[in-house]
Amino acid sequence: MYDSIVVGAGPAGTAAATKLAQAGARVLVLEKHRLPRYKACAGAVSGRAASLLTADFSSAVEDTIHKVKVRWADSEAQVAEYTSETPIAYLVMRSRFDQLLAEQAVGAGATIQDAEAVKTIELEPKAVKVHTTRSKYQAASLIGADGALGVIARQADLFMPKSSGVALEIEAKVPADQLAQWHNTVLVSYGIPRHGYAWLFPKSQHLSLGMGTFSPRRHEFVTHFSDFTDSLGISWKRQDIKAHPIPLGGGNRRFCRPRLLLAGDAAGLADPLSGEGIAHALHSGSLAADSVLTALDTGDFSMSDYQIAVEKRINSDLRVAKQLSTTFYTLPKVFFHLLRSNSEILRWYFELVQGHRSYQDVWEFVKDLVKPQVRRDRRRQSSSSLR
Ligand SMILES: Cc1cc2nc3c(=O)[nH]c(=O)nc-3n(C[C@H](O)[C@H](O)[C@H](O)COP(=O)(O)OP(=O)(O)OC[C@H]3O[C@@H](n4cnc5c(N)ncnc54)[C@H](O)[C@@H]3O)c2cc1C
Repeated sequence: MYDSIVVGAGPAGTAAATKLAQAGARVLVLEKHRLPRYKACAGAVSGRAASLLTADFSSAVEDTIHKVKVRWADSEAQVAEYTSETPIAYLVMRSRFDQLLAEQAVGAGATIQDAEAVKTIELEPKAVKVHTTRSKYQAASLIGADGALGVIARQADLFMPKSSGVALEIEAKVPADQLAQWHNTVLVSYGIPRHGYAWLFPKSQHLSLGMGTFSPRRHEFVTHFSDFTDSLGISWKRQDIKAHPIPLGGGNRRFCRPRLLLAGDAAGLADPLSGEGIAHALHSGSLAADSVLTALDTGDFSMSDYQIAVEKRINSDLRVAKQLSTTFYTLPKVFFHLLRSNSEILRWYFELVQGHRSYQDVWEFVKDLVKPQVRRDRRRQSSSSLR
């Protein structure tokens, strides 16, 4: 009998396992893929995510981002830039990065069994039973950190259909001079798709290019991506594309049941404006471990403290991000022009990515900026209707 079984060895699962094992709990992590495994991800570990890491991940860093170019669709002429002396994000390949975090969990005393998928679970009053492709196990608690396509949320009746965005990406081999041109710099392109953006993130040997959309309407997604890569002179083959859902946070949902907690993508905690998910995966994994440790101490496995902690520490800010996302992607061009004309907005936003600000701060700042413009527009409208 384990104190906790963690399903999934992504950032959420290994963050939980490391904290539990460090506190002396008996932890088993079950991962369906052989590690290290590929994960479709642009691999940007934001400053905010980095501040939550207790492992040294420097050997996984392929580039460190100090500059962001933001452009409108395929227009070279319309670019806003933000440069920071301190790193905005670290770019990693997820296979290497997640492997380092898994090694940290094992070093702390957790057992990781890879190439073993969880098939079904049984939630009982005094334990959780887990059936895998190889065996069955029992634990006092279970953390579902099995990502967007996992089984735990669905089996626990905590899955939220229709709350996901989707993103695709390719890893493009390009000539050395083209790769060098992007060193330390990322490109973010708004406008197409309307409810999302395209990106270019440099890695040490290739460029990561992708596109995400946060709307259920996904018409011509691959065609739009093709237009984006054409504008950069980069070609690829259809089989190079890897796509994956991004379960967005900021809604009303339950993150736990007695003896069971969801963390990371399984809990639907990706940022609804940017799609960033690693930071909240790490954070929720750590909060899940806190909750299990409290339950092991008190014998109260209701896990209700976890619902409150995730809501207060993560989801309340994601609710503001969701509001901002709806406003932004309803009027993307208006916001893009605001970004170009007011460098402060970009600074505030990337200070959020770096972990120095909350969405609440950014929202207040944007509202104050937009209000006079809206008032001017209203005055103009009413005076023209009087004429
Ligand atoms: C194209 C794309 C680009 C992205 N880019 C970024 C980015 O640049 N920065 C960022 O912060 N976020 C990014 N994200 C989001 C980010 O990838 C996720 O939010 C993050 O990986 C969530 O971590 P996790 O630990 O919750 O889940 P995951 O990393 O998905 O890990 C879940 C693990 O569970 C395992 N698993 C699943 N089912 C089972 C089962 N039945 N039994 C056992 N194991 C199972 C999986 O194999 C996997 O290893 C991107 C997402 C996409 C799709």
